[in-house]
Amino acid sequence: MPVHPPEPFRIKMVEPIRLIPREARETALQRAGYNLFHLKAEEVFIDLLTDSGTGAMSQAQWAAMMQGDESYAGARSFYRLVDTVQAIFGFRYVLPTHQGRAAENILTAVLLKPGQYVPSNTHFDTTQANIRARGGIPVDLVIDEAHDPQSDHPFKGNMDIAKLRAFIERVGPENIPFGMLTITNNSVGGQPVSMENIRQVAQVYRAYGIPFFIDACRFAENAYFIQQREPGYREKSLLDIAREMFSYADGATMSAKKDGIVNIGGFLAMNDEDLYRRACAEAVVREGFPTYGGLAGRDMEAIAVGLWEALDPDYMAYRVGQVTYLHARLQEEGVPVLSPPGGHAVYLDAKALLPHIPQSQFPAQALTVELYREGGIRGVEIGSVMFAHPDPETGEMRYPALELVRLAVPRRTYTQSHLDYVARVAGQVARQRERIRGYRIVEAPPLLRHFLARFEPVERTA
Ligand SMILES: *Cc1c(COP(=O)(O)O)cnc(C)c1O
Repeated sequence: MPVHPPEPFRIKMVEPIRLIPREARETALQRAGYNLFHLKAEEVFIDLLTDSGTGAMSQAQWAAMMQGDESYAGARSFYRLVDTVQAIFGFRYVLPTHQGRAAENILTAVLLKPGQYVPSNTHFDTTQANIRARGGIPVDLVIDEAHDPQSDHPFKGNMDIAKLRAFIERVGPENIPFGMLTITNNSVGGQPVSMENIRQVAQVYRAYGIPFFIDACRFAENAYFIQQREPGYREKSLLDIAREMFSYADGATMSAKKDGIVNIGGFLAMNDEDLYRRACAEAVVREGFPTYGGLAGRDMEAIAVGLWEALDPDYMAYRVGQVTYLHARLQEEGVPVLSPPGGHAVYLDAKALLPHIPQSQFPAQALTVELYREGGIRGVEIGSVMFAHPDPETGEMRYPALELVRLAVPRRTYTQSHLDYVARVAGQVARQRERIRGYRIVEAPPLLRHFLARFEPVERTA
């Protein structure tokens, strides 16, 4: 087992957690319609549902919150956030939003017309939904290695440049109001995107006059992977790498709940003044006045500090080390996982673990249920519940290539012994795989159905 850096902090406040009895977990599952989003958090022991907004803030962040300026317009806290974003991201204009999807909503509201396309390496689910909600068509053009659970490509999150060019030629650049790139690429396993790829993507978009927006949620983790894996970056700081990444783009959407290490917040950043004006007009209707967006002054203070903390080399070595450790422990327990691990989560390969459950019966959903039943662990399905959809032309169901369960690691929240426990429980589940059954959906909304769907177990067939 490789040695990973210990936590570069000590604990000054604790929040009790408890494993409720097995029968209580069973009752909770039934009440929740076998969708772990419907559990009460108190029914969960180790909560790896998401790394979004679930991290622990530092003493510096809590101290900054006390200095929040709650002025309706022109608050000092807003300018502090703007200074930080300008220093790290380099974009001229910053619009605070209540979280990442609100930035996506504003971006699609001002740029996207029905029937237009938005390419990316892989769109995150809220980005997909925001594009579809405005009648647009999200298009994923990630490299093929991303869909091979065992490919050890160092930058599995990369855009396929040839596919991107061919796609733009096919639909015409006039039908692409903006292009995106998600760093790290959450939906294929938190996999990083190389600097070379960011540069090439920017070149292609620029050649066709397409504005380029980075989905920047995990920009600091991506910068760390570039530092560790890409030739020529070993001696560069995470800040310098981040600056270079964003120097190629025209703007970014950001969920500060990730690498801002806060519980709520986000922003939309851009260089184009006219676009900023239109985004402000949209923000006033949906989020708030442009100097606070959807946030309190104290929230903007906490983000301004958190963005810097995410670039601390000791923090990031510990952070990615923790995820690498969980990945190695799961492998030791015989649990099939996506390799190499990404920056914020380990992804269990439910297709490999449960080959007897067809995709139409949601093998990854079944695995989330089993991890909770066995050990009170909450992960999230990233498979057919999230991504299967009818083909727009034929109406036939289209299933995603991978059936994953994501165990996301909240920032600065759980210790190594928590992660050891998670690996042991997952190992136990893997040893009982034959008795795990599939599920059918009994109720679901049309968009982002994984949040609200309810399920029932499929009866065992002979
Ligand atoms: C979380 C996330 C979003 C959306 O951000 P929210 O704050 O949850 O609205 C968008 N893109 C990626 C890659 C994300 O991980």
